[in-house]
Amino acid sequence: MQKSEIEAELWKELDALIEAFGMGKEVSISYEPKDRIEDFYGEDRYCGGEYREDTKTIVVHRKTLEGAKETLAHEFFEYLLEPLYGDQVDSFNIIVPDILKAYGKAFSKIQYRKKEQIIALLTRDWKRRRKK
Ligand SMILES: [Zn+2]
Repeated sequence: MQKSEIEAELWKELDALIEAFGMGKEVSISYEPKDRIEDFYGEDRYCGGEYREDTKTIVVHRKTLEGAKETLAHEFFEYLLEPLYGDQVDSFNIIVPDILKAYGKAFSKIQYRKKEQIIALLTRDWKRRRKK
């Protein structure tokens, strides 16, 4: 499948997500397929993309249509959860004194894993619903 075809499918999928959840009209997509994908913590096998809060853009790196759509859904849920999650971790890291930085890191890592688990469940559910 051509890059432009996958991109068009991703925009359709985004429309379906916006319709289903009634949010995300301001979100846009940047499709940047990559051979090798690394994540912030270097251990996330689900992402293959990212949500950029500053530009409200979902960046998708995965190369297959199926994978790219899964990443789009994943990052859409990142967008939905951002107001609940993003600030919490950042402010925790700012308020802790140096000696607690290690705890802060561990804490945000646990939070991150939990969030990723929730998003994985939401993504799986979304895929199931789309197949019906
Ligand atoms: Zn994620």
